[in-house]
Amino acid sequence: MSSPLALYDNYTRTLRAFEPLDPAGPVGLYTCGPTVYDYQHIGNFRTFLFEDVLKRVLRWNGFAVRHVMNITDVGHLTSDADTGEDKMEKGSRRTGKSAWDIAKLYTDDFLEQLDRLDIERPTVLCRATDHIAEQIAFIADIERNGYAYLTSDGVYFDTSKQDDYGYLARLDIHGLEAGRRVDLGEKRHATDFALWKFSKPEEKRQMEWDSPWGRGFPGWHIECSAMAQKYLGDYFDIHCGGEDHIPVHHTNEIAQTQARVGTRLANFWMHGYFLLMNDAKMAKSAGEFLRVQSLMARGYDPLVYRYLCLTAHYRTQMSFSWEAMDAAATALDRMRNGFFALPADPTAQPDAAYLARFTAEINDDLNVPRALAVAWEALRGDRPAAVKRATLLRFDDVLGLRLAPWQPVQHEIPAEVTALAEARATARQAKQWADADRLRAQLATLGWEMEDQPTGYRLKKRAG
Ligand code: AMP
Ligand code: ZN
Repeated sequence: MSSPLALYDNYTRTLRAFEPLDPAGPVGLYTCGPTVYDYQHIGNFRTFLFEDVLKRVLRWNGFAVRHVMNITDVGHLTSDADTGEDKMEKGSRRTGKSAWDIAKLYTDDFLEQLDRLDIERPTVLCRATDHIAEQIAFIADIERNGYAYLTSDGVYFDTSKQDDYGYLARLDIHGLEAGRRVDLGEKRHATDFALWKFSKPEEKRQMEWDSPWGRGFPGWHIECSAMAQKYLGDYFDIHCGGEDHIPVHHTNEIAQTQARVGTRLANFWMHGYFLLMNDAKMAKSAGEFLRVQSLMARGYDPLVYRYLCLTAHYRTQMSFSWEAMDAAATALDRMRNGFFALPADPTAQPDAAYLARFTAEINDDLNVPRALAVAWEALRGDRPAAVKRATLLRFDDVLGLRLAPWQPVQHEIPAEVTALAEARATARQAKQWADADRLRAQLATLGWEMEDQPTGYRLKKRAG
């Protein structure tokens, strides 16, 4: 292909040509999945949409993809510093349901929203609670290799044992150590983190297991190291998540995997940048968060949100606003109607020049906003209509806007409207322009628009 795929790798902080580690096998992709103690918000889905586009672009380049995503259903504490409550137990108290029940409820809801946003499901979806044995074996190896120590509250990873700990985030370890204000308890260094936490004697946890160190539950980071290795091997192609994962979660995944097998898990580390709401990260913990359901309740098609996300590069933060949603709704509606009006001709081929331009954009570190602009040019350009249709259809493999199955909503046309439209058509034929204009205005007051076409007209109900 003329424009080879280049992706931005946050580990090396460079744009690098993408070459699969195994030219014969599928590309191995691991993406950190949802913590299922509550609904996912549209910020989370911005990251999942970026990962979906990445997958589609890999396929566009001829690679098969083996995609593994975890479901965090235990061990993610309310604070990233290994303190606070397990989010699952907290969610259980909030809802009055068991931790196991809410895990199922929010996982099912998550999958439903993926479908709504045309995000393809992973090849392997794996739950932390289904992989406790793998996590215990992983921790045991880390301990055997000399990277773990025991406290009264759990098993901890000793980050001082790795010279390059924190490299992904370019952490200033000395600065962190010097500036630490919080009481570390029995933790030896500010960046040390829990591999296994003990159940407190006085508390009856819903989710707990026996281990060589005592009854308890895994720390949050170990599930990803363990499941990634199980399903993708010691070193695979790409690891993704949101930008918040860079300093703690992904940094610790790398530390664990290095301690066990000596690799940094993945050849490429890619991160989706935040969706902001009122200048702050959209977060479940911060009062206002919007779900896909909230958008639908306001009358938006969920794919409008997908379109909105396509208009911003994944490595820039994006501010959410209803004005931006409205603009995306209008644009998507135009694209759908434009596409719908193009005649289908199964023999028509996509236009090679547009395909090459589109490829150049998406292969430039997923520059989807520019690729979208190429799609608009193709739609408005001067190629034969059937060629335009074939071209856009191919682009939709990456955009995922479901252009092909879309149909305009069929409104029942009232007899009065049909009569006015017919009268206007007759007036136009007779070149009685003043009459035609008056009839058009009358139609408009009834909320209808008449679109003149080469062979007649089409009636459109105005939005709103
Ligand atoms: P969580 O359910 O909190 O484990 O998050 C699921 C995914 O969403 C992770 O990859 C997070 O990094 C990502 N994420 C969380 N908040 C946002 C946000 N406001 N914008 C974009 N991605 C986010
Ligand atoms: Zn993870």
